[in-house]
Amino acid sequence: MRQRIAVIGAGLAGLTLARVLHRHDHPVTVFERDPAPDARPPGGTLDLHDGLGQLALGKAGLLAEFQALSRPEGQAMRILDVHGTVLRDWPPHPDDPAHPEIDRGQLRDLLLGPLDVQWGRGVTEVVPGTRDGALVRFADGRQEPFDLVVGADGAWSRVRPAVSSTTPQYTGVTYVETSIDDVDTRHPDLARLIGDGSLAVYGANRALVAQRNSGGHVKVYAQFRAPLDWHTNPDRHLGLNAGMNTSLDLADAEAVRSSLLALFDGWAPSVLDLLRRGTTFAHRPLYVLPVSHTWAHVPGVTLVGDAAHLMPPLGVGANLAMLDGAELAESIAAGPSDLDETVRAFEEQMSARAGNWAKFTTAGLERLVSPDPAEALALFDEVQPS
Ligand SMILES: Cc1cc2nc3c(=O)[nH]c(=O)nc-3n(C[C@H](O)[C@H](O)[C@H](O)COP(=O)(O)OP(=O)(O)OC[C@H]3O[C@@H](n4cnc5c(N)ncnc54)[C@H](O)[C@@H]3O)c2cc1C
Repeated sequence: MRQRIAVIGAGLAGLTLARVLHRHDHPVTVFERDPAPDARPPGGTLDLHDGLGQLALGKAGLLAEFQALSRPEGQAMRILDVHGTVLRDWPPHPDDPAHPEIDRGQLRDLLLGPLDVQWGRGVTEVVPGTRDGALVRFADGRQEPFDLVVGADGAWSRVRPAVSSTTPQYTGVTYVETSIDDVDTRHPDLARLIGDGSLAVYGANRALVAQRNSGGHVKVYAQFRAPLDWHTNPDRHLGLNAGMNTSLDLADAEAVRSSLLALFDGWAPSVLDLLRRGTTFAHRPLYVLPVSHTWAHVPGVTLVGDAAHLMPPLGVGANLAMLDGAELAESIAAGPSDLDETVRAFEEQMSARAGNWAKFTTAGLERLVSPDPAEALALFDEVQPS
């Protein structure tokens, strides 16, 4: 009899896992809390590395479709100083397959394909070791047992407590995200400033990063060091003198814009236009799990992706999530070895790989949002292909 596999979460980890199992004709049930695939904005652009995310897509048989959708020119990277002077300009490599960009929504739809996800099925908890297997409890009051429950439910995983008591901690760095639409037609000056891929401007303990998505859509991230409650008194918590010593309503776009313009005061007007022309603003404090997050193996339950190894967003989290999903699926599909041993071996492999990347991204975040902007530049010089 084939094992009963439940995947909790239809993010990139869960969908890749399910898609590879599907390719091997192995049954799998995916439960997702969102009521529909387009219930939330899908997020920004992702660069998929040839040895990570692209490897996972190959295992799912989706590499050719990915190549047709992806944007190799999106690998272009430009760095300015706060006065608007170009410090580095790495041009696009149209034929370089190393890190092409793809919109997160396009990637999700590609992975979804024929999968039959159970939408609107939020999980509240998983109870391992019952007589029938690991029991999944749902927010709607139902429950169901499985031979293996895979927590692919992201940073605030409800599956994680079944194997680990660790919870994400705030990094001290917050992103505030805004968007610009139709940049080429409505904001040609910003389109020229950003170029074909990404633009980054680093100052002391703060940065502005703009990334092109497809269709002229741009995501802008204001990044800064701040206490988690900075918005309760921006003047005090961000060291400003801007008359913002009362609580800031994060839902008030104009108030958030004003506080960001005060935080980036003195930067080149062309750069600040990235904030002036942004539409809505989303508050994204960055949380991480400890670099060495592991757990004693629990039969019947495991974690993949951010649920297992949430790390700073330096371009690998989605890649790792997809590779976790693909590798676990391949190991299960290879059967008929003992499922528990298969999962245990997978966990060891995943945690070794994730640990290395967590160290790299944690050190990277310290350098990108640091008192000395030269640190950010030095990091790019180390990692960008010459
Ligand atoms: C601003 C930003 C930029 C980033 N850029 C990049 C990048 O360029 N490259 C890169 O590789 N990584 C990037 N990352 C990291 C990347 O987004 C994550 O690592 C990746 O999305 C993790 O995938 P996941 O499937 O593990 O989790 P998620 O994408 O978080 O998916 C989890 C899914 O589980 C569902 N879920 C949650 N709770 C429940 C529940 N209780 N029951 C059922 N379903 C549930 C959620 O609705 C969601 O669909 C970035 C992150 C941020 C914040």
